[in-house]
Amino acid sequence: MKDFIRDTEIEELLRKADSPDKKQILDIIEKSKELKGLAPEETALLLQTDDPELILAISETAREIKQRIYGNRLVLFAPLYIANYCSNNCLYCGFRKDNKELSRVSLTMEQIAEEVRAIEREGHKRLLMLCGEHLTRSSLDYFIEAIKTAYDTRTERGGEIRRINVEIAPMSVPDFKRLKAANIGTYVLFQETYHHKTYQTMHPTGPKADFARRLTAMHRAQEAGINDVGLGALFGLYDYRYEVLGLLIHARTLEADCGVGPHTISVPRLEPALNAPAAIKPPRPVSDEDFKKLVAVIRMAVPYTGMILSTRESPEIRTAVFELGISQISAGSRTNPGGYSENSSEGFRAAQFNLGDTRTTDEVIHDITKKGHIPSFCTACYRLGRTGGDFMDLAKPGLIQHFCRSNAMMTFKEYLMDYASPRTRKLGEQLLTRLLEETEKPETRRTLTERLERIEKGERDIFI
Ligand code: SF4
Repeated sequence: MKDFIRDTEIEELLRKADSPDKKQILDIIEKSKELKGLAPEETALLLQTDDPELILAISETAREIKQRIYGNRLVLFAPLYIANYCSNNCLYCGFRKDNKELSRVSLTMEQIAEEVRAIEREGHKRLLMLCGEHLTRSSLDYFIEAIKTAYDTRTERGGEIRRINVEIAPMSVPDFKRLKAANIGTYVLFQETYHHKTYQTMHPTGPKADFARRLTAMHRAQEAGINDVGLGALFGLYDYRYEVLGLLIHARTLEADCGVGPHTISVPRLEPALNAPAAIKPPRPVSDEDFKKLVAVIRMAVPYTGMILSTRESPEIRTAVFELGISQISAGSRTNPGGYSENSSEGFRAAQFNLGDTRTTDEVIHDITKKGHIPSFCTACYRLGRTGGDFMDLAKPGLIQHFCRSNAMMTFKEYLMDYASPRTRKLGEQLLTRLLEETEKPETRRTLTERLERIEKGERDIFI
């Protein structure tokens, strides 16, 4: 598998889309409502639009698409960093090899279990497990043992991790097969930047300096049978319009070559990190307005690909972009290994980056509930094998909404019973009552009422 990103092709797309015609943009906006996605040429035209009236139309359309496909749900997860040793030197990352001030740690299995217990006690059921790239300090054997440890760790009141997504350095097909056998959910890997020259500057040494090895990792993962993969670009390294087109080309190439596109796209934006020059002073900062625009455009271009937003962003920005297309969010995050179970103020000295949203999980849940979103801890699709092409077959005719809404309500009920603060519980119960009333089909309403009552009586982990 060769490098399939051509800088000149993306630059040409953007050049041709410069100063777009209003009628053309309105036609593309209309076309996006068919939920069939957009071509790179069309996406480039939307990205080049600055007209406030058109930007408003783009935002409203993205909102409508998000609502039609995903409804009001927001799926929650917690990142779990298990080691911060790294043999790379990415200029934007606190874990970089040359950062001599970072407190390095590779958690033991007991420490990982302790972290997982702390995360479970916040109500999370879904993890994203991560580490730096280091042959000995975070080997694949170590990582696989950590996955098993996390799945095996239980706490009182039915606390358990039901699904572990992973973000780990690219590997060979046989190693991907081992990773798959460890029962992972999504394999996530960010290209960081799709612009070759910027990539080389940002990754001066280490295995990550190889652009093509990273770019083709998703193809190898698919070859190994991992049909659930997540892409991402780190916004702020290069022109955001270029990166969106890079993501889109990556997604389309995967779909054409492997029969299934990415399950998710992440949209991290640079945040300060200890001794990471590119994070402290981003080379191509993305304004809040452009950030909102890029989220909306991605929603229109790949409507069935979930979008993930981390706690890098402030609560205000997070609230603004949830409606524009975000479907998964992290909450209560720590980016330093050991950060959930320790009570130290030294976190930043071991962290990958600074957090923009430092609210607790319960505070985030309270705030999103107040805005009418349904916090979801659902992991049903992965456990029932509804992934890859099977997921898309359900998602495209809108069937996934049916499963997701019910599962979101049931897992939210569990959260309210087991972990919520009194004020969140009160608000959440009000939301569930309203959602039940709004459930159109009497049969679905009856079934949901009965299941919510079973959860109220102590039953757990009910899903469809
Ligand atoms: S971004 Fe990843 S690979 Fe690069 S220095 Fe940080 S942990 Fe290492």
